[in-house]
Amino acid sequence: MSSHIVGYPRMGPKRELKFALESFWDKKSSAEDLQKVAADLRASIWKQMFDAGIKYIPSNTFSYYDQVLDATAMLGAVPPRYGWNGGEIGFDVYFSMARGNASVPAMEMTKWFDTNYHFIVPELGPDVKFSYASHKAVTEYKEAKALGVDTIPVLIGPVSYLLLSKPAKGVEKTFSLLSLLDKILPVYKEVISELKAAGASWIQFDEPTAVLDLDSHKLQAFTAAYSELESTLSGLNVLIETYFADIPAEAYKTLTSLKGVTAYGFDLVRGSKTLDLIKADFPKDKYLFAGVVDGRNIWANDLAASLNTLQAIESVVGKDKLVVSTSCSLLHTAVDLVNETKLDKEIKSWLAFAAQKVVEVNALAKALGGQKDEAFFSANAAAQASRKSSPRVTNEAVQKAAAALKGSDHRRATDVSARLDAQQKKLNLPILPTTTIGSFPQTLELRRVRREYKANKISEDDYVKAIKEEISKVVKLQEELDIDVLVHGEPERNDMVEYFGEQLSGFVFTVNGWVQSYGSRCVKPPIIYGDVSRPKPMTVFWSSAAQSMTARPMKGMLTGPVTILNWSFVRNDQPRFETCYQIALAIKDEVEDLEKAGINVIQIDEAALREGLPLRKSEQAFYLEWAVHSFRITNCGVQDATQIHTHMCYSNFNDIIHSIIDMDADVITIENSRSDEKLLSVFREGVKYGAGIGPGVYDIHSPRIPSVEEIADRINKMLAVLEKNILWVNPDCGLKTRKYGEVKPALQNMVAAAKLLRTQL
Ligand code: GLN
Ligand code: ZN
Repeated sequence: MSSHIVGYPRMGPKRELKFALESFWDKKSSAEDLQKVAADLRASIWKQMFDAGIKYIPSNTFSYYDQVLDATAMLGAVPPRYGWNGGEIGFDVYFSMARGNASVPAMEMTKWFDTNYHFIVPELGPDVKFSYASHKAVTEYKEAKALGVDTIPVLIGPVSYLLLSKPAKGVEKTFSLLSLLDKILPVYKEVISELKAAGASWIQFDEPTAVLDLDSHKLQAFTAAYSELESTLSGLNVLIETYFADIPAEAYKTLTSLKGVTAYGFDLVRGSKTLDLIKADFPKDKYLFAGVVDGRNIWANDLAASLNTLQAIESVVGKDKLVVSTSCSLLHTAVDLVNETKLDKEIKSWLAFAAQKVVEVNALAKALGGQKDEAFFSANAAAQASRKSSPRVTNEAVQKAAAALKGSDHRRATDVSARLDAQQKKLNLPILPTTTIGSFPQTLELRRVRREYKANKISEDDYVKAIKEEISKVVKLQEELDIDVLVHGEPERNDMVEYFGEQLSGFVFTVNGWVQSYGSRCVKPPIIYGDVSRPKPMTVFWSSAAQSMTARPMKGMLTGPVTILNWSFVRNDQPRFETCYQIALAIKDEVEDLEKAGINVIQIDEAALREGLPLRKSEQAFYLEWAVHSFRITNCGVQDATQIHTHMCYSNFNDIIHSIIDMDADVITIENSRSDEKLLSVFREGVKYGAGIGPGVYDIHSPRIPSVEEIADRINKMLAVLEKNILWVNPDCGLKTRKYGEVKPALQNMVAAAKLLRTQL
């Protein structure tokens, strides 16, 4: 009985790769230094899997930046603007594509399916000349072999590579990416032949796009691609690996009929329908790589349950053809629990990071082969039992309150236009009111104060004094700028989810639980392990203090339940919506306390609502329903005259616009700066929108200062599609990452533009 790992985190247990990359980029260390750190990481990962007993150990899942960019390099698909002249692609060209250089910006980056990992989007047009330009896959295979580890090299499959690409500038509307299949396959053939020559006996093609709802034309591309590769692949065992969702029945049929393929990897954690497909019909004599250990979460596997699942498919697939695997690459989980020295012992016993998941996979494979490690299994069973029964997980009152929400609707009684009237009586705002999204620049000094307070190096009094001073500065600045609805600037917050997670029960934080987000950037998601409740008010103190400093309305500033959920590791012992409802109830308490404290405008950020959208279309409506419901729960209890804002960090919500309207916020501010047209086209097409709306009038992601004319121009464009009495004027996101030298003139111009237009309306 054998075992396999789809892929492994690259950063290292203490983010060694991050620091090596950043030091290299800052020219503080050499290319050789960086290569040495990378080689050591790869060696230790291979050794770790080898020692654990894993049979199919992946190679080429390491990357200096991103595995899709690696495929772009392999295919020599470098956009001309990076000035590559052929030859093997080195760090220069590679990192220019990833990060830009002095004269050329980086390639576009986008989210990898529904994860928080971002990949570099290949840009392909009819004129790309593909050539074999990075031998990384072969080099890494040989490197592992020299260390005594025979690996299974991993490549992004040709069909997924093309489906994840975008057409180059100028051919956006007309170009079919799949038409390039014939041109990239010759390069794939070269790579495959080289791998064979180097001694590889297996090869893994990651084809995760197969789980999306692809039309038959796209599905045919799999058939075409693998038939074309068949003769080159002969003599190799070929694994097609899919992940992140149940695979649609048609895609299952297409894949399992492919010629020349010997094995299939499926995600058996997300959804249960793939399992039914396998049980109903799995091709004779093929291997099944059964992804039963969750690569997307940090929970210890329920080994007894997984063993049951595996035994149930064993009879269908055959004992010698069943391989135990992870549901997807372990890239999306934290690296090693060993380094969590501060974590509570009991909670720690419930967890498994990548290193622990490798051990679980192997233990399952051995158990299936009749060599069950009884001690390991019973320790696991004990941990599962303790998690089920631990009083720190369950809070009866919260369970009851959340259960009571199901099936019923929660929304404000009065409709939005009447509410806006009631609010206007109280707020008395000018037309085209100006505001910002929440955070103001976070200076080094500010970070130092927070750090020292956390480490008990300064007293609570000193901390409060310092933060109040900062708030007062931000308030004064906004008054000077003549902004209409103020914010306190969020100086007390490190991160918009962590800040709330730290104050809610049911959350725990790790020290080293980092997950790669993009390039060298990592995030450390909180872990939601138990029922969520709010022991005491979280923001009222700061918001009241801020409101007391000004006669203008001060926005209370909260993170919404869906965003808290989507940016955390979520418990897997109850449905996600139940956890979301619990968070919604906690935020509801906070909203109502803010209202009682005299805060008349409350913003509940749902920056990450869209990213939780399931990949499979059949699951999307249900998600949107409970996500939007959760948001409404937070504010269904406030008075008409209390104005509820929300903020979203993306503009491509054309497909979910009706859900966004259904959130029933009074005002929504949205990122828009990079795609006016996309956002406004929704409204041009006649979607009725009666609430307040503030599409960002300038891009805060860039240090560039927009002129008054430019901003006025954009507002005018919006006025052409949206009623003047619902339009707000604001930047497109928080100002946290900018400098005051940029923020002041930009906001000055923004207010000037609003004032200019007011005189013309
Ligand atoms: N209120 C938050 C801020 O301004 C919103 C951040 C976000 O949308 N990502 O920082
Ligand atoms: Zn934002």
